[in-house]
Amino acid sequence: MCLDSVPGLSKPRYNFNRAVRAIVADVAKRLPEFAHIRASQILVVAGEARRASRATVKPLCFGGGKLEDSSGRCKPRVEVKGRRMLYCITLRPLFFRCSTPQARVATLLHELFHISRDFDGTLDPGRRHHLAGETFEASLIPLVQRYLSSSPASTVEALGHHGEVSIWHWLEKPVASYLPRQDKVRTSYTEAQLFLGQVQMLTSPASPPSEWPDEPSVH
Ligand SMILES: [Zn+2]
Repeated sequence: MCLDSVPGLSKPRYNFNRAVRAIVADVAKRLPEFAHIRASQILVVAGEARRASRATVKPLCFGGGKLEDSSGRCKPRVEVKGRRMLYCITLRPLFFRCSTPQARVATLLHELFHISRDFDGTLDPGRRHHLAGETFEASLIPLVQRYLSSSPASTVEALGHHGEVSIWHWLEKPVASYLPRQDKVRTSYTEAQLFLGQVQMLTSPASPPSEWPDEPSVH
């Protein structure tokens, strides 16, 4: 069930999932470093605060897109409207309440940068923060600046909405992994475990190019 199917509730004003999907697809089109990204297989949800994190990317598979590893540990299958999801990006309150369109682009690129170049539902092992250290941000910042310089203003402005937006939220959240014989968990998730909820988005004035990206990206 989604919010716009509930009688008596007004329809969402701004579909933020659509805006994020468009910008992720545009990033994949414009930057060769992100050409492996398929926006249609990344689920984007709004979630709770986690320390100073703005967003988090979660891999939904083991290597090769598998849902079971060699030890027998499994991951739940996630499908939305019949399409298999390989990643879930959770956008957190600081992303919505305390940011600029440019900083939101930087946050999204940060999360996409974690994704394996095989786009197989796993993260790039060489781009973990504890291994990559400062190299991670040093590699990412020129990509963010290149994207902000080359993308149409309207694409970035789509992340600068000020007011209510609708976005998927988990109604029931999948576990990261489970053991079939020990853990009684749901093994398959669809849009039935999601709902379209409203988030009040607050946007600071757009920052000048000299300040891109203008705040630290914390995952
Ligand atoms: Zn990160």
